[in-house]
Amino acid sequence: MSARISDHVDGQRLWRDLMDLARHGAIPLGGVNRLALSTEEIEARRTLVAWAREFGAEAGVDDAANLYLRLEGRAAALPPLLTGSHIDTQPTGGKFDGAYGVVAGVAALRAIAASGRRPKRSVEVVAWMTEEGSRFAPGMMGSAVFTGKRSMDEILAVRDRSGVSVRDAIAPVLEGEKHLKRRPTGYPVAGYVEAHIEQGPALEAQKKTIGVVTGIGGKRTFRVEVQGEPAHAGTSRRRERRDALVSAVAIVDALQKAIWDDADTVRFTIGMFTVTPNAPSVVPARVVFAVDLRHDDDATVRRLGDLVPVVCEQAKGNCDVTVVPLLYDPPLEFPAAMRARVAAAASALGYPAMDLPSPAGHDSRYLHYHCPTGMVFIPCKEGISHNEAENITPADAEAGARVLADVLFELADEA
Ligand SMILES: [Zn+2]
Repeated sequence: MSARISDHVDGQRLWRDLMDLARHGAIPLGGVNRLALSTEEIEARRTLVAWAREFGAEAGVDDAANLYLRLEGRAAALPPLLTGSHIDTQPTGGKFDGAYGVVAGVAALRAIAASGRRPKRSVEVVAWMTEEGSRFAPGMMGSAVFTGKRSMDEILAVRDRSGVSVRDAIAPVLEGEKHLKRRPTGYPVAGYVEAHIEQGPALEAQKKTIGVVTGIGGKRTFRVEVQGEPAHAGTSRRRERRDALVSAVAIVDALQKAIWDDADTVRFTIGMFTVTPNAPSVVPARVVFAVDLRHDDDATVRRLGDLVPVVCEQAKGNCDVTVVPLLYDPPLEFPAAMRARVAAAASALGYPAMDLPSPAGHDSRYLHYHCPTGMVFIPCKEGISHNEAENITPADAEAGARVLADVLFELADEA
């Protein structure tokens, strides 16, 4: 009998599963467009359910359309171990963001089944509903509802850009999966371990195979609304205008300068900018833009976030400005015991590993407040992600799945 579950991880099968999943929503440059609750995602979910049958797991779904593949343990009544990630993507996303964590979880379950051994606790792979937030925002909806961070009613009311609500979009998903076991939305969990591509360049640069994720960085977001007055581009005199675009550009410039740091550790982004009426011969009446601010250090996130309304007010010129705080996620640190498990599993398998924080958000953020949580990163080519060119190697994919399989089995098999 083999000592490690990871000996039963089938790297070729793992790669084939990744490529099979990437067919759902495939786009021409090699990427994937598989928005949350879309037809493409429904098809991908069917593939996951078909896989579950192959290795004797039971597929289930909850009211939030989180999809579970459960491999029953010897003591099925105990809280299970969870792993997984998400299978929704950005509109021009890659094959691996999210999908890797789900497929690596499937590889771990396949390995446990192939080993002929059963851990004490059940192990479940979850595909969380709407992580990306590209169709329904903000993202991480399924894990937020599962952990009690947001209510079901709150997420059902969210609409996409064409006016379709989560309530409308979720109905056909649940209807198509009504033959699956209906699961409660949230229950006690013994631990959560999420595998994910790094989405940054550190592992590749340091020639490491496994990232032991120390925690998730802090984030604040704001919506800034600049209100001016519309006027005729030909007849209105410039000195008398209240041009919302001119004010908004001054504000953006002032924010860039105020939030600049020489060490370049602060992440500050204006990724959305809307001008109204956005007509060639009308002085802009209104501009709305989004501020996304991130840092590992809570005091820095707070201090710089507090600067945003002050700088906006100072630089607004003769327009009015309103700053709406949208989100504040403090930085978090995963428990040392979970990090030590990941590090020990990587070391036992001979994979070079390093500690690193995650600047990007993941479903693990919400699970962290629900149960002991850890993450395993694998390198991605040149750190490219949220891009069709996103890429990983089959060897790294297998390494991450092997570490995940050993950690999951170990945690699931102890008291
Ligand atoms: Zn992701």
